Amino acid sequence: MATANAALTETMRERALAEGAVLFGVAGVDRFDGAPRGHHPAEMVRGARSVLTIGIPLLEQVSDWEELFRDSELVPADLRKTMLQDYLYSVVNYDFINDRLDQIALSLSIALQARGFRSLMFPATYGPRHRQFHEMMPGLFGLFSQRHAAVRAGLGEFGLNNVVVTPEYGPRVRFNSVITQAPLVPSPLLAEKVCLGTGCLRCVERCGAVIRLLPGFDEGAVWLDPVSRTDKAACRAQRREEFCYGSCLTVCPVGRHTR
Ligand code: SF4
Ligand code: SF4
Repeated sequence: MATANAALTETMRERALAEGAVLFGVAGVDRFDGAPRGHHPAEMVRGARSVLTIGIPLLEQVSDWEELFRDSELVPADLRKTMLQDYLYSVVNYDFINDRLDQIALSLSIALQARGFRSLMFPATYGPRHRQFHEMMPGLFGLFSQRHAAVRAGLGEFGLNNVVVTPEYGPRVRFNSVITQAPLVPSPLLAEKVCLGTGCLRCVERCGAVIRLLPGFDEGAVWLDPVSRTDKAACRAQRREEFCYGSCLTVCPVGRHTR
């Protein structure tokens, strides 16, 4: 195993932040042991040593779209859901952020490759031009789990909402990752819990039909693996009917910057 390269890690961190990433962390590939067959980073990149993960938070006022255009002269009531949930939220808090994450991950991958380290990225999960491919996957899984990578890079823990909850922005963050042969310095795993657990349950109460808690989780542990399941097909069906896109994130009290 090569010695971890602190200078290269710092160069990648500074580059990521300069290009618009807000969170940056690194996991050694050993933290992915137990991944589904074919999806361990060491099976994706020959000789992979590290997975770096970047994050960008959502814009809270866009997530809080329920406040907008309640009494608009221009947006008819029957168009509000389409304009706010399917257009404003989907484009700004999904597609724009995913696009930026994708460009930063590509830039870091190319910079690492130029230093002789084979590197791989995937388009951010459910990115704008690639949803059709995610939708072909059984269970709607991504080819690489950005959520597992973010937790293993010390950026957060799985919350009861089955989304990564970060200390800084709660669950309102999107992620992308680079799998690389570069021997980067791993970030420490989260030392203290962030999700408020069953003493909170706001996300589950918001969306009990879609989020199902798994039995037997340790309430006091930092959750490095999911403690709940999301019925993605039910989520999609509910979003078609209800004005709820992202409200399972919005209700989370952790890491709110605005009230
Ligand atoms: S998007 Fe809507 S249906 Fe899906 S988990 Fe969130 S609140 Fe529930
Ligand atoms: S709403 Fe509460 S239970 Fe759900 S993820 Fe946030 S802190 Fe955890």
